[in-house]
Amino acid sequence: MIDTKINEKKDCVGCYACANICPVNCISMISDREGFWYPKIDYDKCIKCGKCIDVCPTINHKTVKNKPVAYACINKDESIRLKSSSGGVFTLLAEQIIENGGVVFGAGFNENFEVVHSYVETKEELERFRGSKYVQSKIGETYKQVKNILELGRKVVFTGTPCQIAGLKTFLGKAYENLLCADIICHGVPSPEVWKKYIIYREEKAGSSTKRIAFRRKDEGWKRYSVSFIFKNDTEYRQIFRQDSYMRAFLKDICLRPSCYDCQFKTIYRQSDITLADFWGIQNILPEMDDDKGTSLVFVNSIAGQAMFEKLKDKILFNEVDINEAVKYNSAAIKSVKYNPKRIDFFNEINNGEPFDRLVKKYCTDSITTIVKMKSKILIYRLLKNTGLLSSAKKLLKKA
Ligand SMILES: Cc1cc2nc3c(=O)[nH]c(=O)nc-3n(C[C@H](O)[C@H](O)[C@H](O)COP(=O)(O)OP(=O)(O)OC[C@H]3O[C@@H](n4cnc5c(N)ncnc54)[C@H](O)[C@@H]3O)c2cc1C
Ligand code: SF4
Ligand code: SF4
Ligand code: SF4
Repeated sequence: MIDTKINEKKDCVGCYACANICPVNCISMISDREGFWYPKIDYDKCIKCGKCIDVCPTINHKTVKNKPVAYACINKDESIRLKSSSGGVFTLLAEQIIENGGVVFGAGFNENFEVVHSYVETKEELERFRGSKYVQSKIGETYKQVKNILELGRKVVFTGTPCQIAGLKTFLGKAYENLLCADIICHGVPSPEVWKKYIIYREEKAGSSTKRIAFRRKDEGWKRYSVSFIFKNDTEYRQIFRQDSYMRAFLKDICLRPSCYDCQFKTIYRQSDITLADFWGIQNILPEMDDDKGTSLVFVNSIAGQAMFEKLKDKILFNEVDINEAVKYNSAAIKSVKYNPKRIDFFNEINNGEPFDRLVKKYCTDSITTIVKMKSKILIYRLLKNTGLLSSAKKLLKKA
């Protein structure tokens, strides 16, 4: 059964498709010591139907050959854009579905600030999904819910990581005209257990439990976003992402799911209809679309995606861009991150109760050589910019 087919942890993305399909509900998704979910089968109940193997998106990997078209986009509604991680396109497509009587699935916090997938039916409730949460989201029973709603003939938009979209598609097993899938460019997902430990650490520091969390506040700009915790005692913790210990651990790739270091879903040819992302590097490609309040990179991947994009056009500022040029600044679209060799030690120590900040200092601090290299790069860049030699230097580098 499925547990005998998944030889290595990296082969399971934790999408829950197997648990959703099992006709006798004998698959439980159990957290390992790193906090990632894997299927466990109750063999006393299993009827050996093999459905769990048939729906696994990593065993039955599908390659897609569509022709994605890429755009730089900005939601014209400034207030929504500021509340969104990138250019605020997610809210627009979700609203479009809701206006047509449909249902929106996405990742939001539950009452304990765990990240879970669920669905909403009103525009007011979309706030739950708005904004990136840098933790693996639990799919739970949402694939079954999608199927039930689709069968009623209602429109559905399902948003998630590329592997979650792949899991949904294999689970459904056939195309539905009333389904639109939107994935993200995905760096990788950190462990829900590490996230839980970080919340405990922040709450201990604040002496209070949490009221609200945002990963991507834009008060100091989209490129210098900050993490914010608002506590029930009305205090706030806010820190630029580079200095926040959790974000440092995330971006140092020390606590990602094993599958994320060798991801099968990294490509510009997507299983989704639309892909949403940050348009990093927009200042070099279309500087007029960079006001540091957030610009989205959007791939339109299918006919259904194109039809949706047409409906959004009067609500966005947009420009078509060369997709290969755009992903040059967003390698997470096509390339897995490198395995961090200190990962196992990090998990061992975090499980032994080492304080969060001390661990991050120990495992995620750049070496002196890296810091010197980074600072020299910034100095050279500023020097070339101030002396007006930046564009000639760029041309020379292109020729080299
Ligand atoms: C774990 C993770 C890694 C990412 N890595 C990159 C990257 O490397 N490069 C890049 O350009 N963009 C990345 N993104 C996407 C980016 O941060 C924005 O989510 C995306 O651009 C959409 O922004 P928006 O302004 O349109 O809407 P927003 O309102 O900001 O987007 C919210 C959308 O993100 C979904 N979402 C939020 N958290 C999760 C989660 N944990 N799992 C699944 N779906 C989630 C919601 O369901 C909703 O659809 C990542 C997002 C996540 C969650
Ligand atoms: S073989 Fe069938 S019954 Fe057994 S775990 Fe898989 S889906 Fe469930
Ligand atoms: S279906 Fe999803 S959760 Fe189940 S084994 Fe495959 S990848 Fe893992
Ligand atoms: S990096 Fe790949 S395996 Fe990891 S969450 Fe993203 S899509 Fe899934």
